[in-house]
Amino acid sequence: MSETNNGAAVNGGSSLFPTYARYPIALVKGEGSWLWDDQGNKYLDFMSGIAVTNLGHAPKPVKDALVKQLDELWHVSNLFHIPNQEAAAKLLTDNSHADQVFFCSTGAEANEAAIKLARRYQQKVKGNGRYEILTFAQSFHGRTLATLTATGQEKVKEGFLPLPEGFRYIPLHDIDALEAAITDKTAAVMIETIQAEGGIIPVEPAFLQHLAKLCKERGVLLIVDEIQTGMGRTGKMFGFQHYGIEPDIFTLAKGLGSGFPVGAMLAKGELSEAFSAGSHGSTFGGTPIATAVVKVTIETILKEKAADRAAVTGEYLISELRAKLAGNPFVKEVRGRGMIIGIECTGPVAGIVAEAQQRGLFVITAGPNVVRLLPSLIISREEVDQGVSILTSVFADQ
Ligand code: PLP
Repeated sequence: MSETNNGAAVNGGSSLFPTYARYPIALVKGEGSWLWDDQGNKYLDFMSGIAVTNLGHAPKPVKDALVKQLDELWHVSNLFHIPNQEAAAKLLTDNSHADQVFFCSTGAEANEAAIKLARRYQQKVKGNGRYEILTFAQSFHGRTLATLTATGQEKVKEGFLPLPEGFRYIPLHDIDALEAAITDKTAAVMIETIQAEGGIIPVEPAFLQHLAKLCKERGVLLIVDEIQTGMGRTGKMFGFQHYGIEPDIFTLAKGLGSGFPVGAMLAKGELSEAFSAGSHGSTFGGTPIATAVVKVTIETILKEKAADRAAVTGEYLISELRAKLAGNPFVKEVRGRGMIIGIECTGPVAGIVAEAQQRGLFVITAGPNVVRLLPSLIISREEVDQGVSILTSVFADQ
């Protein structure tokens, strides 16, 4: 404990709010799948800054484009046309069914934009007064007031009352509850294709396809949160592409910027008139620097066939884990899609994560009992084998 300027005790003597339970490691350098700490220790990264560095750390094409842009122009207001922003949006719409893009700086902000667009479309364009947003138990959609309210986990809401009105929660995979929850007040349903923070729970195809059909029939918008699953991580550019559905709105962040803070909300063309000048905005959304990075990140994902590689390497990683961890009584299930993988255990896994760090591998939890693996999409086979070997030894000694 240290003292503040007015004499009150402050936790740990840090000038930072204690919003994170930090590991006792300070990282100072990253390259490809590897990170180094300030003591010179080297770590294999199966965490990617929580699904952000999808192309590994400091990918050269992104670094080169960023350095070039730094020499040209950093920031201008969105009151001007921004060519990089137009180009990045076109790349996104050319590679998805979406027609329009709004850029912002974080995932929560992208989901805020999605919620606002859905309500405004229903209220201003359709004129039906619909406002309610349905989301799912155990979902995670962000930390702003609207997105923590949308999140289906009580712990993120504690102490923040009153919460915004108009959010309701449904158990995942419960079609009866879903049918009953949709009313003439429902503006949109928001869902992750794999509940990531909730424990790496892939949504069943029959459920998501039924949800998409129901939304269409009842005039409800479908919002898919692709913030953790997007940009190739699941083995396709966007997670919903595994399901043969086309959400009205979807959101991106994390892997969209290779480590640069960016987010995006994308929608079908018929929703575009819901927003007009002044109805939404963000000072830092889509700046020349941010969208230079988005542009080169998408180009590199496409050029490197990063999504296909994630599908192939992910299948290998899952099968290796299943083979090497088979028979371990602590392991319940290995599941996932592409390079978003969970190892569900019979008890808390914080000790596994800590021990893996000691042995030079970064993994992360997803809820108390799931070890989450999020390697770079273009990690080599040898690096995957090294990570599996460390994890196997950690589990064996558990
Ligand atoms: N949605 C999902 C599915 C996420 O995984 C996250 C972050 O973990 C968010 C939203 C919030 O993103 P951000 O932390 O960039 O606001």
